[in-house]
Amino acid sequence: MSLPPLRRLKKSNMTKISVFPLAHLDQHMILTLKSGKKLVVSSDSFHCVLTISNTFKCLICEAEFKCYSSKEKHKTTELHKKRLALKPNLEEFPEDLIRQLDAETCYCSICNVVIPTHSLMRHLSGEGHSTELNKAKKRSFNYKPLQ
Ligand SMILES: [Zn+2]
Ligand SMILES: [Zn+2]
Repeated sequence: MSLPPLRRLKKSNMTKISVFPLAHLDQHMILTLKSGKKLVVSSDSFHCVLTISNTFKCLICEAEFKCYSSKEKHKTTELHKKRLALKPNLEEFPEDLIRQLDAETCYCSICNVVIPTHSLMRHLSGEGHSTELNKAKKRSFNYKPLQ
């Protein structure tokens, strides 16, 4: 009996993100990407939470919240965190913070929008996205994490 060949360790397909609360920018986060580049996005964008009129919607859990505090509390729950971890940012676009919600839908944390998967490339090359991406980069020069 021959032994099976050693399997190569697979690289993690997750963009490494460290999250810090910020001193001067409430509800925003500094994300440090694998490349060492830093981006600052709002906490809601990071957590895939949209604001639709006066309702907050978590796209990961498909849950809706009428009040700010229950939305904030939701983001700290284990279930939400677990589900968020199951939908990591796509490695193909390391700087763009895209999560795939399902086969037909993606979410852009830079712009805080839902994008049909078939038009993802158009979104990423669009002016709106690159403007938001530049803002997210610039913010990281101006804000320091809370000590
Ligand atoms: Zn959630
Ligand atoms: Zn975008």
